[in-house]
Amino acid sequence: MGRKITGFVCMFLLMACFAWQMAQDHVDLMHIAGQQEGEGGLLASNLANSKKVYLTFDDGPSDHTGEILDILKKHHVKATFFVIGKETETAKKMYQRIVLEGHTLAMHSYSHNYDQIYSSVGAFGKDMKKLQNYLYEVTGTKPVMFRFPGGSSNTCAGDIRPFIRYVNRQGWLYYDWNALSGDALDFQASSEKLNENILKDVRRQKTSIVLMHDLHETIHTVKGLDSLITTLKKEGYHILPITQNTKQIHHVSVDK
Ligand SMILES: [Zn+2]
Repeated sequence: MGRKITGFVCMFLLMACFAWQMAQDHVDLMHIAGQQEGEGGLLASNLANSKKVYLTFDDGPSDHTGEILDILKKHHVKATFFVIGKETETAKKMYQRIVLEGHTLAMHSYSHNYDQIYSSVGAFGKDMKKLQNYLYEVTGTKPVMFRFPGGSSNTCAGDIRPFIRYVNRQGWLYYDWNALSGDALDFQASSEKLNENILKDVRRQKTSIVLMHDLHETIHTVKGLDSLITTLKKEGYHILPITQNTKQIHHVSVDK
Protein backbone atom coordinates (compact mmCIF):
# COMPACT_ATOMS: atom_id res chain seq x y z
CA MET A 1 0.00 0.00 0.00
CA GLY A 2 2.78 2.39 1.10
CA ARG A 3 4.65 1.60 -2.09
CA LYS A 4 1.53 2.33 -4.08
CA ILE A 5 1.15 5.78 -2.48
CA THR A 6 4.83 6.54 -3.06
CA GLY A 7 4.30 5.52 -6.67
CA PHE A 8 1.37 7.90 -7.02
CA VAL A 9 3.31 10.75 -5.41
CA CYS A 10 6.24 10.16 -7.75
CA MET A 11 3.96 10.05 -10.77
CA PHE A 12 2.25 13.25 -9.60
CA LEU A 13 5.57 15.07 -9.13
CA LEU A 14 6.75 13.89 -12.53
CA MET A 15 3.60 15.17 -14.20
CA ALA A 16 3.81 18.48 -12.34
CA CYS A 17 7.42 18.85 -13.49
CA PHE A 18 6.45 18.11 -17.06
CA ALA A 19 3.57 20.60 -16.96
CA TRP A 20 5.88 23.26 -15.53
CA GLN A 21 8.45 22.64 -18.27
CA MET A 22 5.72 22.88 -20.92
CA ALA A 23 4.55 26.16 -19.42
CA GLN A 24 8.11 27.55 -19.59
CA ASP A 25 8.46 26.53 -23.23
CA HIS A 26 5.11 28.10 -23.97
CA VAL A 27 6.12 31.37 -22.33
CA ASP A 28 9.40 31.43 -24.27
CA LEU A 29 7.62 30.85 -27.53
CA MET A 30 5.18 33.60 -26.76
CA HIS A 31 8.02 35.86 -25.74
CA ILE A 32 9.67 35.39 -29.12
CA ALA A 33 6.38 35.91 -30.92
CA GLY A 34 5.89 39.13 -28.99
CA GLN A 35 9.29 40.44 -29.99
CA GLN A 36 8.72 39.57 -33.61
CA GLU A 37 5.56 41.59 -33.55
CA GLY A 38 7.67 44.55 -32.54
CA GLU A 39 5.93 44.99 -29.22
CA GLY A 40 9.02 45.38 -27.07
CA GLY A 41 7.43 46.76 -23.93
CA LEU A 42 4.36 44.54 -23.94
CA LEU A 43 4.22 41.43 -21.76
CA ALA A 44 4.57 38.51 -24.15
CA SER A 45 1.83 36.41 -22.62
CA ASN A 46 -0.54 39.35 -22.89
CA LEU A 47 0.15 39.70 -26.58
CA ALA A 48 -0.20 36.02 -27.45
CA ASN A 49 -3.66 35.87 -25.93
CA SER A 50 -4.72 39.33 -26.93
CA LYS A 51 -7.28 40.53 -29.39
CA LYS A 52 -5.33 42.06 -32.25
CA VAL A 53 -6.24 44.74 -34.75
CA TYR A 54 -4.12 45.68 -37.74
CA LEU A 55 -5.12 49.03 -39.18
CA THR A 56 -4.29 49.26 -42.88
CA PHE A 57 -4.53 52.20 -45.27
CA ASP A 58 -4.66 51.64 -49.02
CA ASP A 59 -3.95 53.90 -52.00
CA GLY A 60 -1.89 56.62 -50.29
CA PRO A 61 -0.02 58.81 -49.94
CA SER A 62 -2.71 61.48 -50.13
CA ASP A 63 -3.17 64.95 -48.71
CA HIS A 64 -4.38 63.25 -45.49
CA THR A 65 -1.35 61.01 -44.87
CA GLY A 66 0.36 63.56 -42.63
CA GLU A 67 -2.71 63.87 -40.44
CA ILE A 68 -3.16 60.10 -40.23
CA LEU A 69 0.48 59.79 -39.12
CA ASP A 70 0.00 62.53 -36.53
CA ILE A 71 -3.03 60.75 -35.04
CA LEU A 72 -1.18 57.42 -34.93
CA LYS A 73 1.78 59.13 -33.27
CA LYS A 74 -0.45 60.75 -30.66
CA HIS A 75 -1.77 57.32 -29.68
CA HIS A 76 1.62 55.54 -29.98
CA VAL A 77 0.07 53.17 -32.48
CA LYS A 78 1.68 51.64 -35.59
CA ALA A 79 -0.22 50.82 -38.76
CA THR A 80 0.37 49.52 -42.29
CA PHE A 81 0.28 51.60 -45.46
CA PHE A 82 -0.27 49.82 -48.79
CA VAL A 83 0.96 52.58 -51.02
CA ILE A 84 0.94 53.44 -54.69
CA GLY A 85 3.59 55.31 -56.72
CA LYS A 86 3.56 59.10 -56.45
CA GLU A 87 6.57 61.24 -57.29
CA THR A 88 5.78 64.61 -55.68
CA GLU A 89 8.11 65.90 -52.97
CA THR A 90 5.26 65.70 -50.42
CA ALA A 91 4.59 62.08 -51.30
CA LYS A 92 8.27 61.24 -50.90
CA LYS A 93 8.24 62.81 -47.44
CA MET A 94 5.22 60.70 -46.53
CA TYR A 95 6.87 57.41 -47.59
CA GLN A 96 9.85 58.45 -45.48
CA ARG A 97 7.71 59.40 -42.47
CA ILE A 98 5.88 56.06 -42.65
CA VAL A 99 9.21 54.23 -42.35
CA LEU A 100 10.85 56.60 -39.85
CA GLU A 101 7.86 56.54 -37.52
CA GLY A 102 7.88 52.74 -37.38
CA HIS A 103 4.91 51.87 -39.56
CA THR A 104 4.94 49.20 -42.22
CA LEU A 105 5.46 50.48 -45.73
CA ALA A 106 3.83 47.94 -48.02
CA MET A 107 3.20 47.67 -51.76
CA HIS A 108 -0.14 48.06 -53.48
CA SER A 109 0.94 48.84 -57.09
CA TYR A 110 2.64 51.72 -58.82
CA SER A 111 -0.16 52.74 -61.16
CA HIS A 112 -3.24 51.29 -59.41
CA ASN A 113 -4.58 50.92 -62.94
CA TYR A 114 -6.50 47.63 -62.81
CA ASP A 115 -6.79 47.22 -66.61
CA GLN A 116 -3.06 47.65 -67.00
CA ILE A 117 -1.76 45.58 -64.10
CA TYR A 118 -4.16 42.68 -64.52
CA SER A 119 -3.69 42.53 -68.32
CA SER A 120 -0.87 39.99 -67.87
CA VAL A 121 1.48 38.64 -65.22
CA GLY A 122 4.31 40.39 -67.10
CA ALA A 123 2.60 43.78 -66.85
CA PHE A 124 1.73 43.09 -63.22
CA GLY A 125 5.32 42.22 -62.34
CA LYS A 126 6.69 45.28 -64.13
CA ASP A 127 4.36 47.59 -62.22
CA MET A 128 5.12 46.04 -58.82
CA LYS A 129 8.89 45.99 -59.38
CA LYS A 130 8.72 49.65 -60.41
CA LEU A 131 7.01 50.45 -57.10
CA GLN A 132 9.36 48.33 -55.03
CA ASN A 133 12.45 49.92 -56.61
CA TYR A 134 10.99 53.39 -56.28
CA LEU A 135 10.20 52.91 -52.57
CA TYR A 136 13.69 51.54 -52.02
CA GLU A 137 15.19 54.58 -53.71
CA VAL A 138 13.12 57.00 -51.61
CA THR A 139 13.22 55.25 -48.21
CA GLY A 140 16.11 52.76 -48.30
CA THR A 141 13.57 50.07 -47.41
CA LYS A 142 12.54 47.30 -49.79
CA PRO A 143 8.96 46.33 -48.95
CA VAL A 144 7.89 42.71 -49.21
CA MET A 145 4.37 43.06 -47.87
CA PHE A 146 1.74 43.43 -50.54
CA ARG A 147 -1.97 43.88 -51.12
CA PHE A 148 -3.58 43.18 -54.49
CA PRO A 149 -5.45 46.19 -55.87
CA GLY A 150 -9.06 45.18 -55.25
CA GLY A 151 -7.87 42.34 -52.99
CA SER A 152 -7.08 38.81 -54.15
CA SER A 153 -10.82 38.29 -54.65
CA ASN A 154 -11.15 41.13 -57.18
CA THR A 155 -13.09 40.44 -60.34
CA CYS A 156 -10.83 42.45 -62.68
CA ALA A 157 -7.99 39.95 -62.84
CA GLY A 158 -10.15 37.14 -64.20
CA ASP A 159 -8.09 34.27 -62.84
CA ILE A 160 -6.02 35.72 -59.99
CA ARG A 161 -4.01 32.54 -59.41
CA PRO A 162 -1.15 33.24 -61.86
CA PHE A 163 -0.73 36.64 -60.17
CA ILE A 164 -0.68 35.00 -56.74
CA ARG A 165 1.95 32.53 -57.96
CA TYR A 166 4.05 35.44 -59.17
CA VAL A 167 3.78 37.13 -55.75
CA ASN A 168 4.70 33.86 -54.01
CA ARG A 169 7.71 33.40 -56.31
CA GLN A 170 9.01 36.84 -55.32
CA GLY A 171 8.73 35.85 -51.67
CA TRP A 172 6.26 38.64 -51.05
CA LEU A 173 3.49 38.20 -48.50
CA TYR A 174 0.03 39.39 -49.46
CA TYR A 175 -2.65 40.47 -47.06
CA ASP A 176 -6.36 40.84 -47.68
CA TRP A 177 -8.70 41.93 -44.89
CA ASN A 178 -11.50 40.62 -42.68
CA ALA A 179 -12.86 43.95 -41.43
CA LEU A 180 -13.73 47.05 -43.38
CA SER A 181 -15.23 50.47 -42.99
CA GLY A 182 -16.56 50.76 -46.53
CA ASP A 183 -14.96 54.19 -46.80
CA ALA A 184 -14.17 53.86 -50.51
CA LEU A 185 -17.65 52.58 -51.33
CA ASP A 186 -19.40 55.66 -49.98
CA PHE A 187 -17.37 58.83 -49.56
CA GLN A 188 -20.35 60.51 -47.88
CA ALA A 189 -20.66 57.98 -45.05
CA SER A 190 -20.08 59.65 -41.68
CA SER A 191 -17.10 58.87 -39.47
CA GLU A 192 -19.47 57.33 -36.93
CA LYS A 193 -20.93 55.00 -39.54
CA LEU A 194 -17.47 53.97 -40.82
CA ASN A 195 -16.27 53.21 -37.30
CA GLU A 196 -19.45 51.32 -36.53
CA ASN A 197 -18.81 49.12 -39.59
CA ILE A 198 -15.25 48.42 -38.47
CA LEU A 199 -16.18 47.69 -34.84
CA LYS A 200 -18.97 45.34 -35.90
CA ASP A 201 -16.39 43.19 -37.75
CA VAL A 202 -13.64 43.55 -35.17
CA ARG A 203 -15.79 42.56 -32.18
CA ARG A 204 -16.66 39.16 -33.63
CA GLN A 205 -13.11 37.92 -34.21
CA LYS A 206 -9.84 37.65 -32.33
CA THR A 207 -7.61 39.03 -35.07
CA SER A 208 -8.73 41.68 -37.52
CA ILE A 209 -7.05 43.22 -40.53
CA VAL A 210 -9.00 46.40 -41.13
CA LEU A 211 -9.25 47.87 -44.62
CA MET A 212 -9.36 51.66 -44.81
CA HIS A 213 -8.23 54.13 -47.46
CA ASP A 214 -5.84 57.03 -47.57
CA LEU A 215 -7.44 58.88 -50.46
CA HIS A 216 -8.22 62.56 -50.94
CA GLU A 217 -11.92 61.60 -50.85
CA THR A 218 -11.84 59.49 -47.68
CA ILE A 219 -11.78 62.45 -45.30
CA HIS A 220 -14.28 60.81 -42.92
CA THR A 221 -11.78 58.03 -42.27
CA VAL A 222 -9.27 60.58 -41.00
CA LYS A 223 -11.93 62.40 -38.98
CA GLY A 224 -12.98 59.19 -37.23
CA LEU A 225 -9.51 57.73 -36.65
CA ASP A 226 -8.87 59.30 -33.26
CA SER A 227 -12.16 58.02 -31.89
CA LEU A 228 -11.69 54.57 -33.50
CA ILE A 229 -8.29 54.09 -31.83
CA THR A 230 -9.61 55.34 -28.48
CA THR A 231 -12.51 52.85 -28.63
CA LEU A 232 -10.32 49.93 -29.70
CA LYS A 233 -7.87 50.61 -26.87
CA LYS A 234 -10.66 50.98 -24.34
CA GLU A 235 -12.07 47.60 -25.43
CA GLY A 236 -8.68 45.96 -24.93
CA TYR A 237 -7.44 45.49 -28.48
CA HIS A 238 -3.75 45.58 -29.31
CA ILE A 239 -3.18 47.67 -32.40
CA LEU A 240 -0.20 46.40 -34.38
CA PRO A 241 1.59 46.91 -37.69
CA ILE A 242 1.69 43.99 -40.13
CA THR A 243 5.08 42.30 -40.04
CA GLN A 244 6.47 39.24 -41.79
CA ASN A 245 5.23 37.20 -38.82
CA THR A 246 1.64 38.38 -39.02
CA LYS A 247 -0.73 35.59 -39.93
CA GLN A 248 -1.86 36.21 -43.49
CA ILE A 249 -5.51 36.64 -44.32
CA HIS A 250 -6.26 35.57 -47.89
CA HIS A 251 -9.52 35.77 -49.77
CA VAL A 252 -7.97 33.55 -52.46
CA SER A 253 -4.83 31.46 -52.19
CA VAL A 254 -2.97 28.80 -54.14
CA ASP A 255 -0.87 25.91 -52.90
CA LYS A 256 2.80 26.82 -52.79
ZN1 LIG B 1 -6.46 50.19 -53.87
